[in-house]
Amino acid sequence: MKTYKLVAIPGDGIGPEVISAGVEVLNTLAERAGTFGFAVDHFDWGGEYYKIHGRMMPEDGLDRIKDHDAILFGSAGHPDIADHITLWGLRLAICQPFDQYANVRPTRVLPGITSPLGAAGDAIDWVIVRENSEGEYAGVGGRVHRGSPLEAATDVSMFTRAGVERIMRFAFQLARGRPRKLLTVVTKSNAQRHAMVMWDEIAVQIAAEFPDVTWDKMLVDAMTTRMVMKPASIDTVVATNLHADILSDLAAALAGSLGIAPTANLNPERAFPSMFEPIHGSAFDITGKGIANPIGTFWSAVMLLEHLGEAAAAGRLMTAIERVTADARFHTPDIGGSATTAEVTAAVVAAIRGAND
Ligand code: ATP
Repeated sequence: MKTYKLVAIPGDGIGPEVISAGVEVLNTLAERAGTFGFAVDHFDWGGEYYKIHGRMMPEDGLDRIKDHDAILFGSAGHPDIADHITLWGLRLAICQPFDQYANVRPTRVLPGITSPLGAAGDAIDWVIVRENSEGEYAGVGGRVHRGSPLEAATDVSMFTRAGVERIMRFAFQLARGRPRKLLTVVTKSNAQRHAMVMWDEIAVQIAAEFPDVTWDKMLVDAMTTRMVMKPASIDTVVATNLHADILSDLAAALAGSLGIAPTANLNPERAFPSMFEPIHGSAFDITGKGIANPIGTFWSAVMLLEHLGEAAAAGRLMTAIERVTADARFHTPDIGGSATTAEVTAAVVAAIRGAND
């Protein structure tokens, strides 16, 4: 029997609530399959850890997790700590050294969920590919003359040919594997006339390797309109780190709730573990109330299982999720119900146990 070594980093806010639900569901799937299991190592890194140790994770943190098969991540954030410290100190401190350059965010309106677009939302079946290693998140920039009238600050977005080529190739490949073979390359090359122009040129170059994929180019501002007005015209999308961050929050909202959407941070070469996380953040407004929607974490677990090659278990979990979302008794308050995290989790566990192969 194969035992997968998993890292669980629940982090802050509702992170611990949804990650413990996610681990329970993964263990149920393993029991049900009988062919694999999980050895889960939990790490208490995050904002609370920072308050004690002055850093979000220990200095040797990456060494401790680099040989695991995958990472399940909750959220990093703390009301008393600046967001850029929590983000750079934990999530980006893992994504960047582990070269998880492809951030993949599927969006679909699940059964029983109502999109703010109404019936038009049923057409949403998108995958957004976010460049996850450079661009606006390259960390290049500086700040001088703090507090003086001469104060100046820069954030330089930095794109490399190698970085853009690999994310374009990944996105075209992903689009090719989907029925519509349709890719939209998001850009802003009208205003950003250096890196974004290179981005566009590389898209043209990589497209030549994929003659069977239909693709188009769209300015990011126009893309927001298209997502709302013509959702059926979109399938796979590739965008820069910042553009895709914003577009995928919009996508999650159009699909019904931030609490449902999943993310995979992939190192496609598998030189390092990949990381799976719900798209939402710490959600301190509902922390400790037991009402966090765990579906985003469960869907992230589907992506984790797919990455591990456990396609049958991934399919079983997705079916269980859809069976549960279809039943309004198991809707948490963010999607208009009154169910608790524990009730939704128990329903998914029951659906897994009862599922037919
Ligand atoms: P962070 O700064 O860590 O990103 P945030 O609170 O600014 O956190 P989110 O955590 O993404 O941002 O939350 C935005 C809103 O969506 C909040 O009102 C939150 O309660 C709600 N929300 C997010 N995730 C969930 C969830 N899993 N279940 C229910 N509501 C959620």
